[in-house]
Amino acid sequence: MRILLAGGAGYIGSHTAVELILAGHDVVIVDNYSNSSPEAVERIEEVSGRSVVAYEADVRDHDAVCSIMREYPVDCVVHFAGLKAVGESVRKPVEYYRNNIDTTLTLLECMRERGVHNIVFSSSATVYGEENPYPYVETMPRGRCSNPYGWTKFMMEQILEDAARADAELSVVLLRYFNPIGAHPSGRMGEDPQGIPNNLMPYVAQVAVGRRDHLTIFGNDYPTPDGTCRRDYIHVMDLAAGHVKAVEYTAAHKGTEIFNLGTGTPCSVLEIVRAFEENSGVPVKYEFGPRRDGDLAEFWADADKARDELGWTAARTLSDMCRDSWNWQRQNPKGYES
Ligand code: NAD
Ligand code: UDP
Repeated sequence: MRILLAGGAGYIGSHTAVELILAGHDVVIVDNYSNSSPEAVERIEEVSGRSVVAYEADVRDHDAVCSIMREYPVDCVVHFAGLKAVGESVRKPVEYYRNNIDTTLTLLECMRERGVHNIVFSSSATVYGEENPYPYVETMPRGRCSNPYGWTKFMMEQILEDAARADAELSVVLLRYFNPIGAHPSGRMGEDPQGIPNNLMPYVAQVAVGRRDHLTIFGNDYPTPDGTCRRDYIHVMDLAAGHVKAVEYTAAHKGTEIFNLGTGTPCSVLEIVRAFEENSGVPVKYEFGPRRDGDLAEFWADADKARDELGWTAARTLSDMCRDSWNWQRQNPKGYES
């Protein structure tokens, strides 16, 4: 199959590009590099051993996206292109709604014009909101989100479901990611956050490499086994493999299906710090700080549906995640700029 990767130069998109290529598919990347670098595309080529078609364009640009689809007819779209920083979304809600919703609408319009019926969407566990009990199961209703970023995911899921309800030809897969961490085992590709990292693993890795003095752990008084929050961390290469299954699934199904992509096992912030230290051999200085607004104490995935219907399970361990994150950070202390 040929697959258009909207936002394919980003963290998850670039790892997925490699896995799709290695599974025998062709990819076409469209990215405006607002949170990534053309260097990521070069690394995809280096790691996969294949040249890749990549366009610098805004996915909200209807004419640009349609003309790319005209030049390269595709069988499926994977929609990664979005703004994703939770705190920034609180400060810039209009930019988040504009970018995230518009990219989705433009892709759906261009797909209709070009006769493309299959789309896989990067959703998030955040759509389960604050009310649902964990582990989260796909049959639970979407919940109340605590920030505009989460609401964009909530709304985009609704838009895609409505589009599939109105068009019997459409196949939509909503992938609800849990907490992706890790990097390609080669150390040539990984997460390259701009500025101060918001997420735990890039922060830990930057402390280990000496770019940050210490990690602040947000809260140690949660009702969890060690008092720190628990999440379902998943290796980005497992996530990428899940996309290959999802893309292939769209070719044989119609309507909307939702899949959690997680391991099904929770892990605390302190457990992450200790596993990172063990696998890197580098101490990670940390101190406890107050809770971060909007953080839930814990949640994790019920990953049975992806296992039963996609034939996918997360295979990599927490040690793999920490080792590969460190390998990437060590070799590229300043990310793709290094
Ligand atoms: P990322 O920022 O690394 O990748 C997103 C890519 O989209 C970037 O390359 C960016 O330049 C591009 N982009 C953004 N807006 C664009 C536009 N208008 N036109 C063209 N390109 C545009 O993020 P990621 O971690 O790879 O996440 C990919 C998707 O998965 C996002 O939609 C994100 O919300 C979702 N997601 C991520 C996580 C996570 O923890 N990383 C968790 C759940 C869901
Ligand atoms: N966290 C932390 N310090 C940091 C960043 C994150 O203690 O500098 C914690 C955060 O409170 C949460 C967990 O690490 O419990 C994962 O946070 P992240 O932002 O990576 O993902 P989230 O689950 O919020 O999407």
